[in-house]
Amino acid sequence: MPSLSFVVEEGGTGMPTPFEAQLREAGVYEYGEVSPGDIEFTQEVRELCKANKCGLYGKTWACPPAVGTVEECRLRCLCYKTMLVFSGKYDIARPFDYKAMHSGMVDFRRVARNVGAAARDHWSDFLLLANEGCDTCEVCTYPDSPCRFPEKFHAALEGYGIYVFKLARQAGLRYDNGDLTITFFGALLHN
Ligand code: SF4
Repeated sequence: MPSLSFVVEEGGTGMPTPFEAQLREAGVYEYGEVSPGDIEFTQEVRELCKANKCGLYGKTWACPPAVGTVEECRLRCLCYKTMLVFSGKYDIARPFDYKAMHSGMVDFRRVARNVGAAARDHWSDFLLLANEGCDTCEVCTYPDSPCRFPEKFHAALEGYGIYVFKLARQAGLRYDNGDLTITFFGALLHN
């Protein structure tokens, strides 16, 4: 069961209150917590990644195969006690408004980076994941040299083998926020 969701239950989360304020400033719409041990990591989602509909498979350090096997991703997540799942909601003008959907996705990566920057004020060690991969650099250094900006890096939730709609439900977040909206998700693992 989720232990918090700022839209419905402000305060009393056990998290630093300044961080909750920072989440709002970062552009987060909703958030909730999941225990990493309760998350389902599946090869099935990894296979969807391999179909490469987003075009990022094998293109960045943030996506498979660079992130390791699904089992390696699972074990990495289990190093943390808590996963904070967060979302960003964007309006679109009509169904399949691809331009607005793309700009929402780009903006959500900015939101995820803001969450990472805020997290640095509270935790020295954390893991940041977000819908789809990292677009910080015009051309990723993968696979020839190390990531240029590890402090801005966030790997893809899907690349970790996680069904995002299931994760949202576990955290008590709305996966679908209405017909003319699109919602993106990220996760911050910390102790
Ligand atoms: S920060 Fe740049 S080098 Fe690092 S994964 Fe993202 S795009 Fe690649």
